[in-house]
Amino acid sequence: MYRLKNAGFKGLLVGGGVRDLLLGREPKDFDVATDATPEQVEDLFRNCRLIGRRFRLAHVRFGREIIETATFRGTGDGSESDDHSLNDEGRVLRDNVYGSLEEDAWRRDFTINALYYNIEDFSVIDYTNGMEDLRNGVIRLIGEPEKRYREDPVRMIRAVRFAAKLGFRIHEQAEQALFEMGHLLQEVAPARLFDEVLKLLMSGVGVQTFELLRHYDLFRYLFPMTDEALAQEENTFPHILIARALSNTDARIAEGKPVTPAFLFAALLWDTARQRAEQIRQTEDLPASLALQRAAATVVSEQAGSTAVPKRFSLPMREIWSLQDRFSHRRGRRAKALLAHKRFRAAYDFMLLRVESGEAEQELADWWTLIQEVDETEQEKMFASGPGAGGRRKRRRRPAKKRESNQ
Ligand code: ATP
Ligand code: MG
Repeated sequence: MYRLKNAGFKGLLVGGGVRDLLLGREPKDFDVATDATPEQVEDLFRNCRLIGRRFRLAHVRFGREIIETATFRGTGDGSESDDHSLNDEGRVLRDNVYGSLEEDAWRRDFTINALYYNIEDFSVIDYTNGMEDLRNGVIRLIGEPEKRYREDPVRMIRAVRFAAKLGFRIHEQAEQALFEMGHLLQEVAPARLFDEVLKLLMSGVGVQTFELLRHYDLFRYLFPMTDEALAQEENTFPHILIARALSNTDARIAEGKPVTPAFLFAALLWDTARQRAEQIRQTEDLPASLALQRAAATVVSEQAGSTAVPKRFSLPMREIWSLQDRFSHRRGRRAKALLAHKRFRAAYDFMLLRVESGEAEQELADWWTLIQEVDETEQEKMFASGPGAGGRRKRRRRPAKKRESNQ
């Protein structure tokens, strides 16, 4: 901000950084708004990269932090220019009109996100009455909620995200519209939805977020198959399994431990994959492991139609699934290989979830917990006498790798 100022530009902190600092919370990242164009920002910072899917932005790196630096944008209200166009439903297609600081404030999503910290006089600039909403714990869209949701349906899940994260309530009219406009999420690019979903579930308050999304009936646009599995009333496993997976993840985040989205996606989509695998196994007379592989492929490709899970998460997710079957074979080399598998830890954690949700026997969990605690001679004894088949003969044995926590 000072470098921008010294070069004759404005540079203000905005968004979550200001909001969270005012609330006495630690900001997750910092966003800067400026009257310098992205090219001018690039000239000022060597550690700068211009990016832009919908908007053109400058990413300025400071060590491990990336400061998102955006040029003031116009509101687009009544603007007929080529650079700002709405589709038939009122969705913003392009939004690259530069504007004044005040215009920039009015085109932001919520009043509490439109506060600017000004280094010129250390004040907070507030055009939209965001300070009052911040004090009262209200999430209020700037402008008319229906119109703002139509412009960008992702604002609906952002409203839910901030409500859960900050413990705020969504202002009445904006809340009512959530129930009615969720279907617009179907038009958001699946890759963009994935980015938002990741923020939703990895926020440290995944349980509350999940419950709120279900409450507003938005969840089914993000995870249609999961929603269907949850709707089958006689089926209580997925409820417990998903709730446990989310609360495990929240707990790990609270303790500062690493978390992987693959584990959560494995939990969210497991019941669908399992049911489909069972169908395939029966109708096509395939071994369980092959049936699961097939089912997993259909689940991943179908999910890509709503929230596209990238390969770096879907591959480990599928591995967690495919290892589940192997926990029942507790004798011999195949069982030993499972213990040494690089994905053992995540698969084991996942198996514990299945036990907790009543899908697998407690005894299974106890056995695999014990074998990790005893010394090598005891392990050998357990592998020699463990229940279950020794697996297929002459299986390739994976080299023992350092076991790491995958969750
Ligand atoms: P956090 O980073 O803590 O998740 P944030 O409010 O900083 O929350 P970002 O996604 O980093 O969220 O966005 C930064 C700011 O950009 C927001 O505070 C808001 O002012 C604006 N913004 C983000 N997304 C939208 C959107 N879809 N429509 C309008 N303004 C948006
Ligand atoms: Mg931010």
